[in-house]
Order: sequence, then structure tokens, then C-alpha cells
Amino acid sequence: MITDKKGLYLSGINKTYGQVEAVKDVTLEIKSGEFFTLLGPSGCGKTTLLRMIAGLELQDSGSVILEDQDITRLPAIKRQINTVFQSYALFPHLNIFENIAFGLRSRKIPEKEIKTRVQKSLDMLELGSMPKRYPHQLSGGQNQRVALARALVNEPKVLLLDEPMSALDAKLRAQVQVELRRLQQKLGQTFILVTHDQDEALVVSDRIAVMKDGEIIQFGTPEEVYDFPKNKFVAEFLGAANLLAGRFHDGVFHTDIGPLDLDVPPPWEHGVIAIRPEWINVLDTKPDKNGIRAKVSEIIYRGTNRDLWFEPGPIRVRSSTYKHFKIGDELWLELAPKELVVLNE
Ligand code: ATP
Repeated sequence: MITDKKGLYLSGINKTYGQVEAVKDVTLEIKSGEFFTLLGPSGCGKTTLLRMIAGLELQDSGSVILEDQDITRLPAIKRQINTVFQSYALFPHLNIFENIAFGLRSRKIPEKEIKTRVQKSLDMLELGSMPKRYPHQLSGGQNQRVALARALVNEPKVLLLDEPMSALDAKLRAQVQVELRRLQQKLGQTFILVTHDQDEALVVSDRIAVMKDGEIIQFGTPEEVYDFPKNKFVAEFLGAANLLAGRFHDGVFHTDIGPLDLDVPPPWEHGVIAIRPEWINVLDTKPDKNGIRAKVSEIIYRGTNRDLWFEPGPIRVRSSTYKHFKIGDELWLELAPKELVVLNE
């Protein structure tokens, strides 16, 4: 059922290339004004799905509805959907102004309006001082902004972003992610991003769809998918997770490291639970519930935190750097019942 008539609705989308089922029966609703991310490992089908939304690829079956209109058979140029590609695809022989104006010129928009619209998007992306420069005279981050300005100047209903930050170094990428999020909130426009970078997805998105082998495994807000991963794949793909296998009987989950109380009884007898490394407390004394006596076996310093590995397990704990431990320390780990996530698969 479509709840937002101004949104984008994908229904039963399938695409195969020879033997490869690139996208399998994807049904999704992306609300108008939402920052939506397709997240998944290489080859999971996210780019193929994005290209079908853009009209650059035709699906084998299924439909694409934008603002209550079936655009399944509409060519890319008529869709009011623009894409920013990983490579930026700027014209090297055109200056920044002309790169941004290109789409408007080809649509025969009057010169005066082109000037106003290009200037507006240059200002919006803080490129106002460089319209006469050429792409090779700009930094990676600036070229990325030009690519965004060039897409936004067309005032698309939906902006697609195909790994647009992957060419940037880690520090700049983190900065551009925040800028992109702010820009999208300011514009209130629908953005759909494709990425394999889980941190990026968590930073920018209103909602994330986690993909694997052509299917959407789980979707929800960043908090929902991070805090309540549905299965092992999502738990491990989004951040680090300790996975504990065991048997649930007599109201207790029995694992190799000891018995654990759960807040929510699992729907299975044999299964796996997850706990994030930063949700485990390290204590000197035994906690009331779910205390595991453990010994530090490895310490990895990460600047903002330390990763401690404990035996039995191994269990990973993410700890503040102001707390000091050494290998061989014997301590109590508290795996509080409210932090234990029951996985379905
Ligand atoms: P990446 O992050 O590496 O770009 P992706 O998740 O975007 O990966 P897709 O590019 O959508 O994945 O590819 C999904 C699957 O479809 C892969 O197995 C890929 O090899 C295959 N595929 C994609 N395009 C084609 C094509 N034109 N011809 C044949 N196979 C293709």
C-alpha cells in the first residue's frame, strides 16, 4: 500500500543478468523528502536498483511509481530524477559555471533564468567564488559539490547518489557526509544514496535498506537497524557485534561462556544472540545479572577508544581510553539482558 502519494514506490522489482539474479522482488516505499540509503556489500544489487529508479536500466518485472504516476516505461530524461555518479562525470573542458548550466542549456532554458539558477546552486554549495575555474583546478571535495550542484540545478524530484563520496579521503568524506545531510535537510528533497560504507549510511540517512544478494534484508531508521539487527548478516555488516550461539530452555539462554537471562524470549530453541562491544560493561565486582568472569587477552588502541578482547569467548568490548587494562586482568563482564538482541537467523 502506498502511504505517501508524493513519494517513490518500487513494487516487485526483478532484474537478472544471465544467471545472476541482481535484484530479487524488491518492494519499497521511499517517502518524499526522505534521505534514503541502499546499503550493502559489493555486488548486492544496489547500483542496479538505483539505475532502474533512474531509468538507466530496465527491470525484467515490477513497477516504479513517482508521485502517484507510473514511470516504469519512461526514459531517464523524462523522469525528473537526477543522478550524481561516483566519478562525478564533470566535463573537463567546461568551467564550473558551464558544467552546472549544461543540463539547462540542453533543455533550452532562457539565458537569464540559467544565470539565476546556476548562481543559486553555486551559492547553495559554497562554490560562489569559483564559477570560472575548471574541474582540474578544484579539490576532490569541491568537484563533488559541483557534481551535486549540477544535479540540483535541474530541481529534480528525486536525487540519486551513486557512491558519490568514495573517491574522497576518510577525513574529507566524513566532512562531506555531514554537509550532504545538512543540504538535504535544508532542501527537504528526496535523496537516495547507494553506499557500502555503514558509517556513512548511519550518518546521513533517515532510513536505511540493508541489501544482500539482490534482496532487502532489513530496513528502518539508523537506530533501528543498528540497535535491532534482524540477523547475523545485518549485525555484522553494521558495525561490530559479538554473536553468541546457544540453547534456550527453562527461561535461560545457555551459551559456552555461561547462562544468560534475556528480556525477550526467543522464538527458537537453538539460535544466536548479538551484543555490541560498546554495550558490555567491564566491572571489578560481579553484577546482579549476566555476569561473566573473563580475562583480557588482547588490547587494541583506536584513539577514541580501546577494543579489548576477552577469554572465554572471544568477546570484544569497546572501552573508553581513560580506563586502563592490561593483558591477563581478570574482570567481570556485564551482558545486561536489555542489551542482548535475539536474532532470527
Ligand atoms: P558495487 O558496490 O560493487 O558497485 P552493487 O551492490 O552496486 O556492487 P550491482 O552493480 O548492482 O551491485 O551488481 C549486482 C550483480 O549484478 C553483480 O553480481 C554484478 O556482477 C551483476 N551485474 C551488474 N551489472 C551487470 C551487467 N551489465 N551485466 C552482467 N552482470 C551485471
